[in-house]
Amino acid sequence: MRNQDCIFCRLASGQLPMTKIYEDDELLAFPDIHPKAPTHILIIPKDHVVTSIAAMSEANQRLLGQMLWRAKLLAEGQGIAEAGYRLVFNVRRHGGQEVDHLHLHLLGGRRLGPMA
Ligand code: 5GP
Ligand code: ZN
Repeated sequence: MRNQDCIFCRLASGQLPMTKIYEDDELLAFPDIHPKAPTHILIIPKDHVVTSIAAMSEANQRLLGQMLWRAKLLAEGQGIAEAGYRLVFNVRRHGGQEVDHLHLHLLGGRRLGPMA
């Protein structure tokens, strides 16, 4: 299901431009428009499955595993795995989430500071 009001759904459906880094039947990965590190990639389910981790059900566990596994492989592909990287799910307002479509941040390419 895609949501017309959701920016990530519009990216996934090609209504908004985006440079694809990775795509399969379920997932899409693309650079964050406001990168916080030399490598800053967003990994999303193509469908508007849930808004965030907090909205997930047990049935979504496989999807979460796929996202994390893809992040690991993308980090290797981007050449940042050996030095290290950060994976972030912002969850709802206190977690700093701005886009309500499940997404995983992959950040690396420099030594990241302490968590906020
Ligand atoms: P959140 O704060 O919800 O965890 O992260 C949302 C991220 O989406 C932000 O880092 C923001 O820069 C990124 N973003 C928002 N709109 C767009 C867009 O249109 N294109 C891309 N590539 N990234 C976006
Ligand atoms: Zn969406």
